[in-house]
Amino acid sequence: RYNFCAGPAALPEAVLARARDELLDYQGRGLSVMEMSHRSDEFVAIAEQAEADLRELLGVPSNYKVLFLQGGASLQFAMLPMNLLGQGGRGNFIQTGIWGKKAFNEAKRLGFDCYVAASSESNGHTAVPAADTLKISDDAAYLHYTSNETIGGLEFDYTPHVQRNDGTSVPLVCDMSSNILSGPRDVSQFGVIYAGAQKNIGPAGLTLVLVRDDLLGNAQPTIPSLFDYQLLAEAGSMVNTPPTYAWYLAGLVFQWLKTDVGGLAAMDAINQRKAEKLYAAIDASDLYSNPIARHNRSRMNVPFVLEDARLDNAFLKEADEAGLLNLKGHRSVGGMRASLYNAVPEEAVDALIAFMADFEQRRG
Ligand code: PLP
Repeated sequence: RYNFCAGPAALPEAVLARARDELLDYQGRGLSVMEMSHRSDEFVAIAEQAEADLRELLGVPSNYKVLFLQGGASLQFAMLPMNLLGQGGRGNFIQTGIWGKKAFNEAKRLGFDCYVAASSESNGHTAVPAADTLKISDDAAYLHYTSNETIGGLEFDYTPHVQRNDGTSVPLVCDMSSNILSGPRDVSQFGVIYAGAQKNIGPAGLTLVLVRDDLLGNAQPTIPSLFDYQLLAEAGSMVNTPPTYAWYLAGLVFQWLKTDVGGLAAMDAINQRKAEKLYAAIDASDLYSNPIARHNRSRMNVPFVLEDARLDNAFLKEADEAGLLNLKGHRSVGGMRASLYNAVPEEAVDALIAFMADFEQRRG
């Protein structure tokens, strides 16, 4: 059976198998990772290895901290302005869908004045704003965007870059929840990268934050210590008990990416093939369609609708019976969505395409 869930999403089989083997007795220590003190030598070694592997995979420069936190990507919507706007300035946002809007609204809810630097609302979020149309405010402290909108299936095909009038770059803050680790990235172009783990990193309950050193130390003084990037970084993400088991599983995923897959360039090629095949099948059919501009079609989340929405329930039921799970689109948009994260094998996409063609022939 193949799981196309948008999140929490499929994990690599090899990772689940290794976790099962180590579940009750981690490497002969006589206890489960779940039962270890986060301050024990065993767990600290697991945590440090995970960070080292992530740094190697993504090429994280040494002037960035890597934080392993809780609270989901949604808590970062709040922590970002609290940490980056303590010395003034405004958060600027590129809005390309539901998640970017949530990030903006959460900052506003906390009383921060926010600015929309660009939006794809006028085209119904079917194409991201062109790079040369971004207009930041004079007081921009950072520019936030969502590199992949998980619900709309809209992915940036470029990394935004904007300068202030004095020529300095505005720190770029990216919600990479649904396409982190899908291919290589130049981390040095970003001020902050954050991601909920439950798509390409591991199980739910863990949130990754990569933050450049020069952005630390700008927090509002009255925020809870658990929200303060600097304090979290100084404590190695262990101000309090971290999500130890999710951290361990993320470490297994990083090792899988390094050794089984062969790194992010190899992952990138596989993801490209998977997505191209599925979009080609959608485009060639009379029953299925996807509205997103070709250059912004998400490689991770492929939404599609059936020409006749009365067939939706039959499609989902038969897909489920064929072992193709969780293809229902997000409740806010309907239709279908196939999420093709790293752990979804190419055979899963082949099976989906074959099922779609068969369904169209019978019912289309
Ligand atoms: N940002 C994006 C792009 C997402 O896809 C999601 C969840 O699906 C979130 C943020 C919210 O993540 P969390 O549930 O970890 O708060």
